[in-house]
Amino acid sequence: MARKIALVGIGKIARDQHVPALAASADWELAATVSRSGSVDGIDAYTDFAEMLAARPDIDTVSLCMPPVPRYAYAEAALQAGRHVMLEKPPGATLAEVHTLQAMAAGKGLTLFATWHSRMAHAVAPAKAWLADKTVTRAHITWREDVRKWHPGQDWVFEPGGMGVFDPGINALSILTEILPAPVHLTSATLTFPANRQTPIAADLAFSGGVTAEFDWRQTGPQTWNIEVDTNAGPLALRMGGNRLELGGVEVAGENSIMGEYPALYARMAQLVADGTSDVDLSPMVHVADALTLGRRLFTDPFDF
Ligand code: NAP
Repeated sequence: MARKIALVGIGKIARDQHVPALAASADWELAATVSRSGSVDGIDAYTDFAEMLAARPDIDTVSLCMPPVPRYAYAEAALQAGRHVMLEKPPGATLAEVHTLQAMAAGKGLTLFATWHSRMAHAVAPAKAWLADKTVTRAHITWREDVRKWHPGQDWVFEPGGMGVFDPGINALSILTEILPAPVHLTSATLTFPANRQTPIAADLAFSGGVTAEFDWRQTGPQTWNIEVDTNAGPLALRMGGNRLELGGVEVAGENSIMGEYPALYARMAQLVADGTSDVDLSPMVHVADALTLGRRLFTDPFDF
């Protein structure tokens, strides 16, 4: 029988991905929404989270789709109320708050799943498997997209804790940390801030082991989400945000679609709850925190949506 789940924060990603993924899932029944401004047709709708938690003891899992800064208070309330919790990426505004949630979930025997949707892209698992016995000699990430297309009017991305270009960049880092056969650490970064904003619109990163990354939110026209890796056995490339795999320049696996990622996240959440375990890997966010710690700051033209 499908398990009941509530979706909290009915914004862009909830509508684009979570609602269709849940509608197609045999594991889950979307039993309620919590939103100050929106609802989903035919689903019990609440505007207040505490009210939903009190009114619906039959819903034992919540999926939190709001931006990272407000998310902690909801996650804490859900765990205190005995609910399993699924977190959108990035899992929090700070590393310490996610550690707190992790300890709280463990103490209560509840599941906490810090999701990384890009790790569920079609070609990530085969890329990881191929790289497992290779030596990486160099890797480069190119993640260039148009913030106006993907975050229309979302000023929170430029507020403290919104992470700026690291909001998409952390997707690349979630793939990198998943597929590399050995961990790397950040060694330098250059961060470019619009003169009127609190978070960077572009970033260039360098890591140990010859790994580099360029993130830019100012790309119009075709969008670029590539990870190119040189190894002792030839080059590997992930394209389309981890959905297509090339080995030696020849496409060998994957699909030109991101629509498998959220169904796979919900299948994983169902498994974690059934197994009574959690999945909280903060390594992508550690790299972002390190870049914001170590980064050299440049300033550029003001940015407005
Ligand atoms: P969004 O549309 O701007 O916000 C989502 C919802 O969060 C809003 O509809 C609002 O819900 C709630 N919210 C915003 N501020 C809040 C606050 N201060 N307190 C409580 N609730 C608040 O953002 P989004 O694009 O869906 O992104 C949400 C998360 O998903 C982010 O962490 C983002 O990185 C991740 N994500 C986004 C995308 C994308 O393409 N946009 C892709 C993958 C992952 P109500 O008005 O319903 O209360």
